[in-house]
Amino acid sequence: MDEPHAVVVGGGIGGLSAALALHRRGWRVTVLERAPELREVGAGLTLMANALRALDALGLSPALRSSTHAEAPGGVRDRRGRWLSRVDAAEMIRQLGTSALGIHRATLHRLLREALPAASLHTGAEVEHVESETDHATVRYGGPDGPRTLDADLVVGADGLRSRLRAQLWPEIPAPVYAGSTTWRAAIAFPEPIPTAITWGPAAEFGMVPIGEGQLYWYGAITAPPGGHAPDELAAVRDHFGAWHEPIPALLAATPPGVVLRNDIHHLATPLPSYVRGRVALLGDAAHAMTPNLGQGAGQAIEDAVVLGAVCSGGAQGLPTALAAYDEQRRPRSQSIARASLRAGRYGQQLRNPVALAVRAAALRLTPPSATLRSMTWCADWRPPTN
Ligand SMILES: Cc1cc2nc3c(=O)[nH]c(=O)nc-3n(C[C@H](O)[C@H](O)[C@H](O)COP(=O)(O)OP(=O)(O)OC[C@H]3O[C@@H](n4cnc5c(N)ncnc54)[C@H](O)[C@@H]3O)c2cc1C
Repeated sequence: MDEPHAVVVGGGIGGLSAALALHRRGWRVTVLERAPELREVGAGLTLMANALRALDALGLSPALRSSTHAEAPGGVRDRRGRWLSRVDAAEMIRQLGTSALGIHRATLHRLLREALPAASLHTGAEVEHVESETDHATVRYGGPDGPRTLDADLVVGADGLRSRLRAQLWPEIPAPVYAGSTTWRAAIAFPEPIPTAITWGPAAEFGMVPIGEGQLYWYGAITAPPGGHAPDELAAVRDHFGAWHEPIPALLAATPPGVVLRNDIHHLATPLPSYVRGRVALLGDAAHAMTPNLGQGAGQAIEDAVVLGAVCSGGAQGLPTALAAYDEQRRPRSQSIARASLRAGRYGQQLRNPVALAVRAAALRLTPPSATLRSMTWCADWRPPTN
């Protein structure tokens, strides 16, 4: 039997995870990435137990443990630094088998990249069109050597928030919409030990996550109209968060100018009716771009990849049935996490009304630690398929 061939469109965390999952199941993979270089921009990520188990299933455990930081769980504070709720670290480990880990995005991207055959990775390759036939698919892409086409048994659309494959194959689905918030992020050198924690103020949130090797990732999010830019984004962050509790001013003081990224948050507000059309399967942000409030976007992309690899373990034989199983296993879970993430943003970062803020603070203080933990961990309690 010929080696089955998958073309993966997009070389982000989702695309590389999918390529690795299929490669480990005996597929020949070709990753087409439009950027001239394969690299991940952005700052840090939190990987919860579900993402860690998915990465274990991709064989990345040992490399991962030496490149991450086990989070010292803190909890939620108000902007004066008073704890509203604390995470019970021991109970989290008892329930999930691990704490969450903080990692630099670039590190995770490199680990995935290094686990793949170098010859499978193609940069400067922008996919323009995909045609799905009964028994194969054709991908047309452009690059430095002009237009090319590739045949594949399977095409994986991992082309992110603004997915061209989604727009082409599901034209009835509206483009992602603005979720109402803008964020600043940075990864900085900050060797002092601090707990992973978030702080809520009126219509604003600041988070901090140690990511190992003396580095820390912080983000600040506010409710704002879309499209805002400041001549000096770090100064804008200081305007919003500089008077909040320590160590927030210290983190901003330790941030060099020029490393702060600013992104408006968009999400796919209309859920897809399927993640599969013919021989094309979408995953990651292409399938279910969600707000970052639960820290699950990359985790869901990696879960998608592992499940896709598992259902496709029989090669190109019986692919329609395998892809139907992929859709069935992935869509309900990832779409319910996307909905929960949106709700978490509305109840968390976006809450502005002073009475609602006071009620929320009181509710958080009164909630038993076990219930607080459950509200954080339900989406992390996932295991990869056993086949
Ligand atoms: C502020 C913020 C904080 C976040 N924090 C977390 C967190 O803590 N934990 C977590 O799990 N997730 C988090 N996320 C979400 C996470 O970053 C994304 O869900 C994840 O990176 C999506 O990966 P992806 O591979 O699907 O898409 P992308 O990373 O967007 O990759 C898509 C790739 O496809 C390429 N591409 C696009 N079009 C084409 C084309 N036509 N041809 C070829 N290539 C193409 C792009 O260049 C890109 O490389 C956060 C997101 C934001 C915005």
